[in-house]
This record gives sequence, C-alpha cells and structure tokens, in this order.
Amino acid sequence: MANKMVYLFEEADRTMRDLLGGKGANLAEMTKIGLPVPPGFTITTEVCNAYYDNGKQIPDGLSDEVLPALTHVENKLGKKFGDPDNPLLLSVRSGAKFSMPGMMDTVLNLGLNDAIVEKLVTVTDPRFVYDSYRRFIMMLSDVAYSDKFAHISKHDFEHIFAELKAELGVKEDLEVDAAGLKTLCEKYKSHVMAQTGSAFPQDPYDQLRAAVEAVFRSWNNERAKVYRAKEKISDDIGTAVSVQAMVFGNRGNDCGSGVAFTRNASTGENVIFGEYLTNAQGEDVVAGVRTPTPISEWAAANPTIYKQFEDTCQILEQHYKDMQDIEFTIEHGTFYILQCRSGKRTGTAAVKIAVDQVNEGLITKNEALARVEPELLNQCLLPVIAQGTKYTVLAKGLPAGPGAATGIAIFDAETAAILGKGGEGKKVILVRADTSPDDLKGMLAAQGVLTAKGGMTSHAALVARGFGIPTVAGCSDISVDGHKRQFTVGGTVISEGDEISLNGTLGEVIVGSVPVEDAILTVEFGTFLGWADEVRTLGIRANADTPKDTLLAIKFGAEGIGLCRTEHMFFEEERRPVVQRMILTAENKERAAEHQAALDELLVFQREDFKGIFEALGGLPATIRLIDPPLHEFLPNIEELIEEIATLKATGKSDPAKEEMLRAVRSMHEINPMMGLRGCRLSIVFPGIVVMQTRAILEGAALVMKAGGKAYPEIMIPLVGHVNELRTVRAELEKAAKAVEAEQGISIPYQFGTMIEVPRGALTADEIAEEAEFFSFGTNDLTQMTFGFSRDDSDKFLKPYVAQKILAGDPFESIDETGVGLLMEIAVQKGRSVKPDLKLGICGEHGGEPRSIAFCHKIGLNYVSCSPYRVPIARLAAAQAALGKGVSDK
Ligand code: ADP
Ligand code: MG
Ligand code: MG
Repeated sequence: MANKMVYLFEEADRTMRDLLGGKGANLAEMTKIGLPVPPGFTITTEVCNAYYDNGKQIPDGLSDEVLPALTHVENKLGKKFGDPDNPLLLSVRSGAKFSMPGMMDTVLNLGLNDAIVEKLVTVTDPRFVYDSYRRFIMMLSDVAYSDKFAHISKHDFEHIFAELKAELGVKEDLEVDAAGLKTLCEKYKSHVMAQTGSAFPQDPYDQLRAAVEAVFRSWNNERAKVYRAKEKISDDIGTAVSVQAMVFGNRGNDCGSGVAFTRNASTGENVIFGEYLTNAQGEDVVAGVRTPTPISEWAAANPTIYKQFEDTCQILEQHYKDMQDIEFTIEHGTFYILQCRSGKRTGTAAVKIAVDQVNEGLITKNEALARVEPELLNQCLLPVIAQGTKYTVLAKGLPAGPGAATGIAIFDAETAAILGKGGEGKKVILVRADTSPDDLKGMLAAQGVLTAKGGMTSHAALVARGFGIPTVAGCSDISVDGHKRQFTVGGTVISEGDEISLNGTLGEVIVGSVPVEDAILTVEFGTFLGWADEVRTLGIRANADTPKDTLLAIKFGAEGIGLCRTEHMFFEEERRPVVQRMILTAENKERAAEHQAALDELLVFQREDFKGIFEALGGLPATIRLIDPPLHEFLPNIEELIEEIATLKATGKSDPAKEEMLRAVRSMHEINPMMGLRGCRLSIVFPGIVVMQTRAILEGAALVMKAGGKAYPEIMIPLVGHVNELRTVRAELEKAAKAVEAEQGISIPYQFGTMIEVPRGALTADEIAEEAEFFSFGTNDLTQMTFGFSRDDSDKFLKPYVAQKILAGDPFESIDETGVGLLMEIAVQKGRSVKPDLKLGICGEHGGEPRSIAFCHKIGLNYVSCSPYRVPIARLAAAQAALGKGVSDK
C-alpha cells in the first residue's frame, strides 16, 4: 500500500474519521487537547479495505509501520511489549467512521502470556494479574477463533466461569480470589487447546497480529451487517483498529470503569448520566454482563476524582458542541479517558438537547436543525401508557429505552425475529438474562426488550434507544430461565407466549396488556419544529381521508391535505351494499335508474365526508383524488363466492343474488388490474361515479362556506397518460361544478389537476399542463411503471437486488433519482414551461422520506404530502434540504 497505514494519536485529529474511524479520530483529538488518554496509534480503514481486497490478507508492510509506533508507546511509558520484568499491555479496538456500539470486537490485556504472568504475580497483586489474563484469553479466543471453531465464544468461557463459581460456592466474579482465577486461566487454556487443537498463543507479536486481523474480520460479522443495514451505513467503509496502552480498572477497590453521557440520553435533561463498576474493566459495563451502579454513588465516595471527571465532561461538550458519550477508567485514583463520541439519544432527548444548546449559546438554530436525524422524531410520537391507567407493576428495572410496549414474551432473538416485525408480524417482547449486541435482530423485531442484567449505558441499551425500542434493563427482580423459556418474579411465572407490557419510561414490567396513547408533545418539540418552519421553503401536507386524520395531521403541523383518497370512504360497512349496487348496474342501460339511485345515495354520504374534512381543515387546501382503483376491489372475492355457491348447491339450495354477483365479478375480472380499468379510464367509461364525487366535494364545500367557513377543493384526476384523457374527464366535471355553483348560488374556489404517475404523463407534461391547475406526483405508481416492477410482488426480487447491490436501495422507499427522478424533473420543467405557477406536489409514500424530500426540494416542488405521523419528519427534512445539509452521508 502506498498510503500511510498507521497514525500515532499525536499525529491525527477529529477530522480524520474516514481514515481512522470515529474512535481513532476522537482519541487523537482528545490527546491533542490534553486530556488523559493512554498513548497509542490507529491502523487506517484503508488497511481494512485492502485486507478484504487481498482475499483477507494483511497487506505487506503493515508491521514496518506498527513496530515503530509500538516503540513510541513503549518509550512514552517506559515499558516493553513482551518483557516479563516490565510488560506493556495493549488494547486492540475496533472503530468505524460511524459508531456501531458493541457490533465489532475489542481485545483487552493483550501481551500477557504464561511467563509474564508468572513474573508479574511476584511483584503485583496476583488477583489482578490472573483476572486480566483470564479476560484476555477469553476475548482473544472469542474474536480470533470463534468463526472457525465451535464452542470458543465468550459465551462458552462465561459458562466455564459460572461452573467454577458454583464449585466455589460464590455468585459474583469479585468473590473469586487469586487462586480461583489462576485455576480459571488454566481451564480456559485447556479449553482452547481442546477446541482448536493448538495452544493459546504465547508470543505477544502473534497475539497482536491475530487481534488486528480479528478486528478486521469483525467488520463482517452477522450483527455488524444487520446493524449497518438497519442504520443504512455502507458495507464498504471498513473499520480502523486502534492499538492503545492498557490502563487497569480491575486493580483493586480504588480502581474501576464507567460509561457516561454528558446529558441524559433518554430525556435530554442537562445532567450528567453515568454508570460505574468498582474493580472492573470497562468491558463489563458495556457488554451488559453486570449491572453497574449509578455514577452518583461513586461521586459521593470519590469527590476529587469525580470533579476531574465532571470537568472532562464539560471540556468535551464545549469542544465538540454536542452531547458526548464517554468511556473512562480509574487506576489507583488516576483518571483516564478511553473514548468519546456524539452520544446516541432518543428523539425526545435529541430535540431537547438541540433546543437547550441553542439557548445556552453553544450552537446556532441552523446547527441544531442539521443535527437531528429526521427519522428520530418518530420517537417523540411513540405511544406511552394512557394517562390515568391503573396497573400493577410486576417488577422494576432500569428505564433503558422510553415508551410503552405490549407483546408476548419470547426468550431468544432468533424466535423473536421469526415471529415479530419483519417476520410473522406478531407483537413480541424479547426477554433475556443479559443484554447482548448479538440479539440485535431479535431486538429490531420486538416491540420491547426486557433484561435481568445490564445497565443504562450497556451497548444493547444504547442500541435500543437509538432505534426507539422501549426497554427495561437490569431488572434484577426477575429471574430468566432461557431453557425453560420462562421468567419468574416471586411466585409469578411468565412463560413463552404470555402477554406482558413494558413501561420503558419508568422501567416497569406489567402482566397483560395496557392501553396506550400518543406521547404528549413537548414544548421543545414545538420550538424546534418552529425553527424548521422558518427555514424550509417546501410546503408540508398530509395524506388524510377522514376528519380525524386531518385534525391529527394539523396538530403535527400539516398545511393542508395533499391526498384524500375518496374510495376509502366506499369501504365502510353501511355503504358497501350501495357501492356494490352502483357497480352491478353500471354497465346495464336498462338499470340506469337503479344506478342513478345508488349514486344519489352515495352522494349523501360523500357530501358529509367532505364537509367534515373541510371543517377540520379550517380553510387549508385539500387535494381530493377521484376514484382510482379497479371496481372489482369493492366486490366480494371471487374464490369465496364460488365456494359459497358450491356449498349451497351441495345442500340443494341456491342464492340468485350471489350468482348474479359472481357473474358480475367474473365479467370484471382483469388479468392485470393495476394496468386495467382504473383511474381516469374508469371515469371515461363510467362518468357517473366521478360526476357524483365532484358534486359531493363541491356541495360539501358549499355547505361549509355558507356556514361562514372556507374551503379550497383541489379535484385530482388520477392516472392520466394522455392529455385527451384529462380533457375529456375535466369537461364532464366542469359541467357538474358549474351546475353546483348555480344551484348553490355561490362561487367556489375549486381547481382541477392531475396526478403524474404514468411515465407518458410525465413526458408530455407540457400538453397536460394546459388542462391542469396542479400536478401531484404519484411516485408509487410512477416507480412501478418506470421500472416495470409490481410493487406488491417486488419483495421477492428487490431484497436480493439490494443485497447484491444491483440497486442501491428499494426504489419504493426512497426515490430512484436517476430514473424516476428524471421523469419528475422533465414533468416539472415541461409543466412550468406552459404554466409558470403550476402548483406541484408529491403524494406517494416518498413524500415522507427524508432523502426523497431533499430531492423534491431540489427539483422545485411546492410541497410534499405524507401520512400524518410523518409530518414532523417531513418538516425537519424540508428544513435540512433548504439548509443544504443534515441528510446523513452514510
Ligand atoms: P466498543 O466499541 O465495543 O465500545 P471499545 O474499544 O470501546 O469497544 O472497548 C470496550 C471497553 O474496553 C471500553 O469501554 C473500555 O472500558 C475498555 N478499554 C478499551 N481500551 C482500553 C484501554 N486502553 N485500557 C483500559 N480499558 C480499555
Ligand atoms: Mg467503546
Ligand atoms: Mg396511483
């Protein structure tokens, strides 16, 4: 490799995240600003990528750069790597550009071997020496061999340790004395020999090579891949490896390790939040195998060092201008900082911290806006237990991830993934003895997570908060039996499949289900989105079909309805028979009177619907789409009908109405209904339906206006591919509109427009614009028809497409800018060439997706429309688009 492969901490800074990973860059930065960081160096992400490009071979020349760096560290500390008289021990740590808590590997206490241990115990506390050695054997074996050999993972070693503790009649690690730990080291080494056929490596340089390579390999372990997919982090960026001198938190009772957030990561409160374990290495805190104590307890007992810790938090926040998540260790009363990064936080915390930091003068409003990932706002709307609900708390743990969740208890991640979200779609609560990043898949599929051990700062708790999963951790009241698939609290047994609820905000476990409601929006939430509204230029509307949804959307900040789907109103129970009668009589000239009677009945219903919506809107505009789906969607299912009729026949009975229905359903059967008789085509063949709908819309508007209100109906004609389609339908509807105005004696500010969702419509948008006051991009259909992918059938091939990188992502999730986006740009440009002030919006699912919103901003749309719950996300994403930053570069 031509490029420099190794950087000393003194040689780098925080801007070098691409090359050194977040951890390496920040270790360098903290060194630069004079914080007590143990010395070390970082191997670049380029080396990791070269390792993979070379067919998993460490590139030549790496050791030529590592050895001098190692010497530099030795000289700084006056110790020597591999020297029994004064050994330098190392930690070998993973770290990619974007933080992936606990997903990759780290090895501590590297450099120990039998000879060094033998010497060390004569000069220092033997318990500490054996404790370090047993940890090292476990970690190196786990990371270096567990992908090649079975039974050599951390779990297997923990099992051996548990057995020994049982033999010795003790419960806690700390109760095992030096002799016990010495035995444990022997057992561990025999286990390695038995499983791998080779002795545990004794040469420190071999150990170092194995650890570095293992960290590279951990980039592609299962949980890291799942995490990257979920967080949309590229698989190609690789991890750096930081090699650092060890400091020891496990050297007695004046030592320990902790993790802290400079502000509360759940609520955002400006109070340091941390956890600490005395006489332990930090791995114990972050891995969640022990439940640490709150930092406040430690503070009281160690005021001087706590002050130093507090000052460090201050310095880091001021320096990074953001809430920091820090890892630290105390060795014989000396404070060391081992990591800092921008802390993961809940949506509520993200908003509060951003607003507070603006008020504190630390950052500007625009910086605050750019900082919060729009999707995080979802969490501010997450359900909580309905106010006033009375419930009994079965057990209490730590409130590790806020929100309420109900589901059936499931005891392993695999099963949770199969049954839960993304699988069978059941609501599950994952219950585990301890929190482990290996459970990621199951956590993502669960409504909530409950664990008996582990603290608020464990990796699993971090991940849960980051993804908005309600979590109760460290719930020592419960005892989990993974084999029996149950947990017990006193006399109560909860078995797999039993329904439980979690109140992650208070750390409560509840038997059965509880009623939930939307979270109450905080003052900061309003302030923050108010700032977003000040800078965004895109309008934000919502897709809403009922007054209830409309009110919800307005509460979340929508400025109108961008898509009201009228056919949803046809599905209501009392209307269905009328709708079916209307359909069955449509083609039959002799039944014209019946057809009209059915339409008249529906008119009454729809007029009320629209009146309600205009009232809810209070003068905001509503784009109302005329009937769009093929008519058979409103009729009974053909297979069911056939079966019902056959059953009747078998018992010698018959039902003429059912048989007529079957004939009708058969005659309407289409091979490819999505491209069949629907949208404006339907309106041309059966104009009665849309004439009725237009009347209902305008009569509803007239009622509101006559009562002193305002109504701005925008009537949208779907699926137009040729201007003549629009021209024909519009002419018919204009007649109806004029008639309503004449009957009501008022003028209604209505507009006609169309959806652009057929590629031909986009390509001839200049012709179409002659007949339209507005366009709304229907990007679901436009994506279907541009790719020729059926959205409903695309799961089978889109997943492999994305996995094989044939497509960068699912085009139904985020707009395919080069293809579908090009059609949109053409339509924008051609449409506006004819009508410069043509109103342009988007109402497909993409209208609530941050990247797509940025694209809509770029091509000059007037507004985006999305589901009510995504309105806050869209407001922020639109602001970030206007600021030209924010949407992450993952
Ligand atoms: P992760 O990315 O999984 O958090 P780290 O590299 O941060 O992995 O290592 C995990 C823990 O190991 C740290 O929180 C810290 O407590 C401990 N650790 C790492 N490096 C050192 C070191 N040089 N001295 C002492 N402890 C260390
Ligand atoms: Mg860490
Ligand atoms: Mg459509």
